Amino acid sequence: MSVDIPQSSELLGFVPTAQYGDTIDANHGSDVPANLHAANSRARGGALHLSAVLPALSSAIGAPVSTHVHSNARELQRALGFPNAKSAVVVLVDGLGYWNLNMMLGYAPYLRSLMNEPANQRPISTCSPSTTTAALATFGTGTCPGMTGLAGYTQLNPQTGQISQLIQFRGALPPEQLQTMPTVFAKLREQGARATSVGMTRFMASALTRAALRDSDYICNDNPTKRVSIAANTAREPGLTYLYMREIDKAGHAYGWHSDEWQVAFERVDMRLGMLHRQAPHDTLIVIVADHGMVSADQSEGARIDIAEDPELMKGVRLVGGEPRATMLYAEDGVNPDDLAARWRSRLGERAWIRTKREAVDGGLLGSVRDDVMPMLGDVIVYAAGNNTIVDTRTQTDGATRMPGVHGSQTMLEMDIPCLIDYVE
Ligand SMILES: [Zn+2]
Repeated sequence: MSVDIPQSSELLGFVPTAQYGDTIDANHGSDVPANLHAANSRARGGALHLSAVLPALSSAIGAPVSTHVHSNARELQRALGFPNAKSAVVVLVDGLGYWNLNMMLGYAPYLRSLMNEPANQRPISTCSPSTTTAALATFGTGTCPGMTGLAGYTQLNPQTGQISQLIQFRGALPPEQLQTMPTVFAKLREQGARATSVGMTRFMASALTRAALRDSDYICNDNPTKRVSIAANTAREPGLTYLYMREIDKAGHAYGWHSDEWQVAFERVDMRLGMLHRQAPHDTLIVIVADHGMVSADQSEGARIDIAEDPELMKGVRLVGGEPRATMLYAEDGVNPDDLAARWRSRLGERAWIRTKREAVDGGLLGSVRDDVMPMLGDVIVYAAGNNTIVDTRTQTDGATRMPGVHGSQTMLEMDIPCLIDYVE
């Protein structure tokens, strides 16, 4: 039995804002404005959230930890359906959304076999914005972007008054100063449990690793196949191993997720995951998640919205942060964010979901928000609808404004991620 794939209008429709908590809250209603046609009003988040995965795994290996957002790791384990195991290997496949995966299953025999299991036939939610920096920190700390301070691909650095970029931390605060939440790895170690990462040499001490995924024993290897064997081998000792796979996201950004290049990357990832399954020792729990899905960008006029070519959109905006699917506008001094949001709404209509910072925070978009994170957030937050993008050719390169594959917004395709369980007996 396979999963029914929704119509593309539904996949590209906005979904309700995912909430943070330990239970599956079915009573939360949709906050999508009526004019934006929420296609799917199912409540999202709670235990079925990227932030819950590591805490739930900590419980599965017998070393439950709590985080600022999640107090009951056992409840999360139960809600996510993780069996107890001596050790766990969690694989984060960058950019492999739940629906991207299910629409391409024909290329992926191992993942197809996992998707045949009823327990795996439900997506979980990533965080908002649905982007790598925010999601990796949400995952690594078991919290939310409002607490980690990683709230976008780029955001304001209040110390410099300028935009910083959070992949390499260009122009940003030092990673440990921006992101002060302990990682789940650190909490496992405190209990004497093993926490291991297996990754590329250049990511071992990268700024993003230091911010989002610090305090594990990091084993370097620059061969992706060997990384899988190493990860399988670490599972001989009780504890948790984290493995990251980046090639699908890379191919998706460069060529789009319907490209041959994406398909080749997907086949390779499936092959390596199948290898992990075969090499893992018995009593290992393998869990496969992603940080976000991906949509194709429509490059036509009207869909690629260039702030630089529209004086009405530029008016009152001091800086533009975020990224093409999740844009943050920082208002000039004296400009009322409500007025700025109203001007953008009247200009973009149904092409974007526009919230002021106050509306976004009150709606729980970023989870609970640290006081010192508030100034880093845009005064107005603009999420692209459909296949639209919002770019600014005054500051962004032509390549960055014309990527065929994008993510960051709150559509079903971007927000729904897999959480596949493979228990090796
Ligand atoms: Zn990513």
